[in-house]
Amino acid sequence: MAEKIAIYPGTFDPITLGHLDILKRASKLFDRVIITLAINSNKTPLFSKEERLNFIADAVKNMPNVSVDSFEGMLIKFAEKTGANAVIRGLRAISDFEFEFQLALMNRKQNGDITTVFLMPNEKYTYLNSTIIREVAKFGGDVSSFITPFVEEKLKEKFSK
Ligand code: ADP
Repeated sequence: MAEKIAIYPGTFDPITLGHLDILKRASKLFDRVIITLAINSNKTPLFSKEERLNFIADAVKNMPNVSVDSFEGMLIKFAEKTGANAVIRGLRAISDFEFEFQLALMNRKQNGDITTVFLMPNEKYTYLNSTIIREVAKFGGDVSSFITPFVEEKLKEKFSK
């Protein structure tokens, strides 16, 4: 039987425990999951592509069926190239729904064989996103329960400069 492969795309600036919660759930449902950095030249992230990839690689080092990649341009083209038949997205609240709905249907229009799968994180992560982590860390707040120790260290370095 063909391997079931999913991709989990995002900006991951930086990766949070909310992202990792979704990734763990996905890794139990699929044979292989590729967590992939979506490079968007219109956005100026806090962390570089290399930094974000390092954070992800560190976070998934004990997840044997998860690999890390990045792509620029169309998500569906990247999915096709990897042989994935599913795209994982996280849904936190109703506020995520409208954008995610639009994205999923547009992706389905591009390739009807690739299905978007929405997963919900543990409720303790439902109000978490990378933006709030960056904001709180910038002002020296405690974000240690929402990110990996490696990301915490690098956030401290970034804002102590
Ligand atoms: P964000 O800037 O919102 O964190 P990303 O592009 O990094 O967004 O997120 C990639 C995917 O992970 C999106 O589907 C997003 O909804 C989901 N996601 C982000 N944070 C969480 C969280 N705390 N819990 C569940 N899903 C999340």
